[in-house]
Formats: sequence, C-alpha cells, structure tokens
Amino acid sequence: MDIVILGAGESGVGAAILAKKNNFNVFVSDKGSIKEQYKKELQDRDISFEENKHTEKQILNAKEVIKSPGIPDKAALIVALKKKGIPVISEIEFAARFTNKVIIGITGSNGKTTTTNLIFHLLNTAGYHAAMCGNVGTSFARLVANEEPDFWVVELSSFQLDGINRFKANIAILLNITADHLDRYDYKMENYIYSKLRILSNQSEKDLLIYNASDYNITNTLNQRKVAARTIPVQNKFEDQGSVMLYGFKFMMNPRSLKGEHNLFNATCAIHAVKSLGLDDEVIQRGIDTFVNVAHRLEWITQIDGVDFINDSKATNVDSVYYALKAMTQKTVWIAGGQDKGNDYSQIIPLVEEKVKALICLGVDNSKLLENFSPVLKIIEESKSVEEAIRLARLYAEEGDVVLLSPACASFDLFKNYVARGDLFKAAVLKLIRNKNESHRDDISLPET
Ligand code: ADP
Repeated sequence: MDIVILGAGESGVGAAILAKKNNFNVFVSDKGSIKEQYKKELQDRDISFEENKHTEKQILNAKEVIKSPGIPDKAALIVALKKKGIPVISEIEFAARFTNKVIIGITGSNGKTTTTNLIFHLLNTAGYHAAMCGNVGTSFARLVANEEPDFWVVELSSFQLDGINRFKANIAILLNITADHLDRYDYKMENYIYSKLRILSNQSEKDLLIYNASDYNITNTLNQRKVAARTIPVQNKFEDQGSVMLYGFKFMMNPRSLKGEHNLFNATCAIHAVKSLGLDDEVIQRGIDTFVNVAHRLEWITQIDGVDFINDSKATNVDSVYYALKAMTQKTVWIAGGQDKGNDYSQIIPLVEEKVKALICLGVDNSKLLENFSPVLKIIEESKSVEEAIRLARLYAEEGDVVLLSPACASFDLFKNYVARGDLFKAAVLKLIRNKNESHRDDISLPET
C-alpha cells in the first residue's frame, strides 16, 4: 500500500481524494464510525476503507501514513509506525506537494479564523481567486484536488503543524501563543510554542513572517533561533482603536465586524499580508468595509430597548474574553461559564471590575466563577439555560448597556458545541423581539372574518 490514511474526517477524506486523483494506492482506516457522506465519497471513487477498527497488519505495511490531526502522537499505532520508520505526516504536508501556488498560512491560539476569513475576503475583493481551507472548514487536500486558485489561505492548528516536514507557508502569520490544548503537549507550554513555531520551519529569505511582537512567548522564542524569512513584527497595542496607519494610508476599521483592539491587530496582520501581494490601499479598505465576520465571534445580534446583545460563544478561553471585554465600550452584563479548562481568571479581574455590572453564570458548575468574581462584583446570578441567562441579564441591563455572551469555557456541559450554544443564544434573543412585537399586536385592528 502506498498511502494509509488514519481518520476519515474532513482532512482524511480530502487526503484520500487527492491521493487517488494522483494514482496512489490508498487505504483509509478509522477507529470509529465514518459519516455517511464521507463513506459515499470514498465508495464513489473506489477508495478502500475500514471503520470501527484499525487493521494493523495493513497499516504497518504503508509506505507513508497521513494522520488526522485528532490522533495524538502518543497513540500506540503511531508509536508503532514511527518505530518501524514509516513516515507519518499531516494532510497539510501531503496537500502542499501538489500545488506551487502561494500559500498564506495563519496560526495562533486566537484569531485564526477571523484573520483567515479577512485575508480571503480582501483577496477576492481585489478580483483574485483565493481559496480558503484548513482548520477553518474544507480540508486543504480536498481543495488542492479540485481547485487551482491564485492563492491559498490556510488556517493551521498546532496539530496540523505537528505533522509537517517540508510544508512551507510563503507568508506565515503567527498571531499569538497563549495556553491552550496543553493536554496534547505533556502540559508543557514550551512544547506547544515549539509546535506553533513550526509554521516558519521551511521558510527562506524569499518568504515572509508576520508575527505578534507584543507576545512574549513568540518574541522570546524567535530571539533564540535564526529566522530565515523577512519579518514584519506587529504590536497588538494601538493608540487609536478605530483605524491603523500603514504604508502611508489610514485604514479605517469596520466597527460592526472588526470590533476591538484584537481585531485591529488581526486586520493589521491581514493588511501586511495582502500588501506584500501588491493589493491597493483603496481595494483593501473596500474589503474591510464589506467584511462580515464569521458567526459567534463578537457577533452583534440586535438591540432591544436600547440594550445591545453580542454573541461571542467562540470565546472558549480566558484570553479571548479579555479582548472581548476590552472591546466593550458600554456597561456590560456578562454571561460566562461552562466546562472549565483549568482557567486562570486572575488576568481579567481588573477588567471585569471596570467593565462588568453583573455576571450571569451559565454552566453546570459555576463555583470557579463565583469564587473569582464574588470579591469584585455585586451582582452574580446562576443559570442553566440560555433563556434563563437572558431573562436574568435583562433584569440588570439598562438602556445603553450591552449583554455579552463570552463564556471563557468549553460548551460541552450544557451544549453540543460552541456553535449550538451561540445559535441558541441568538435564537433566544431574537425571540424577545418576536414576543415584544406580539405583545403590541393588540393595538392593531385585525380584519373581521
Ligand atoms: P480561532 O480560529 O483561533 O479560534 P477566532 O477568529 O475564531 O479564532 O476567534 C476565537 C475567539 O477569540 C473569539 O472570541 C474572538 O473574539 C477572539 N479573538 C479573535 N482574535 C483574537 C486575537 N488576536 N487575540 C485574542 N482573542 C482573539
């Protein structure tokens, strides 16, 4: 067997499609069950596969193995493969072999999806055919099999970077490195940092690295190694929060879709990237003006009785809540909580004290929030559903205030995932408008029947 693919999710199936297209002998193996839609794709292309098991004999005979980012390096099968000297790579590494178009790779602990989407949008606004893929949705390999864009805009997680050898981002963006996913890195921050830094591993002096120069984890590590690429350091502190002056042009931010200093930073990185590809300032500005961010990231939902409602369900760690709160210009009723990931709230206590008038906990176990914020907040309530959280939030939010869902926690205690949590929140907020309209309906004289 030329290639064995472990894991038949989006990246595995994408890799299988690309491998088959390039006439490799390919076998897909998944220890769990494979989604119907993926099975059909494999069957349609005559790609052999197995599910609910790994047949070791066949797998250990591979010339090369492509591993899903979800499978840890410590899994027994991966250890056995490596012991036998069989190369184990990620789908990103494999896909990059079949394209020679410019790759813009974006990584970091927070802001990847926003920055990836923005770069994609700016390039398309300029009339280019950009393709967006990677951790953000469609796999890189699937798109390489199907498209020939001018530029690849690839969101890269640390797990995907772990499996690269020769993959090179012509433009690499390293947004930030804050504690996350440490369970996969032996609980050692340096391992996680090392993994993120792999994004610059194959860069030469012809390539570009755009990085967060205010992030100690990044600058400290970069100082200790030789960086081949041309670098653009970007500070994430801005005097004027509404615009950024770059290359002699004042880029105005879009206050609805790129709210807050962190988004100004993301946008600055994106502007540097597309300027290096020759985009005009006016075109970039048009792209910023028309950009709509993906849902669940500081997403403004509506205003009811003068109170704004914002859905930031994707804020699943303390750092993203820090930036969310910083971005709030109004008194905030903050809805937070869920499954704790070993959160250290100390870094946001002063900000909470400054911005938050009431905390509504939304989770099964709220003890850590209560313990951390009781000393600084007069109002803390507990809830176990979004409806209840919103009902409580409305009690405290007055005209001119904002109700912000920015949980700092994973969603799995009460919801399927952060998307479900955000969608339920939005639906419950929008229902308030419907209820309000219905309560006014008595005023309308209905036609007689
Ligand atoms: P990722 O894809 O890395 O998870 P997203 O763009 O989906 O990043 O944003 C995730 C969360 O982090 C959101 O709550 C968002 O508001 C916040 N965020 C976005 N950019 C940054 C940044 N540069 N620094 C810190 N937090 C950020």
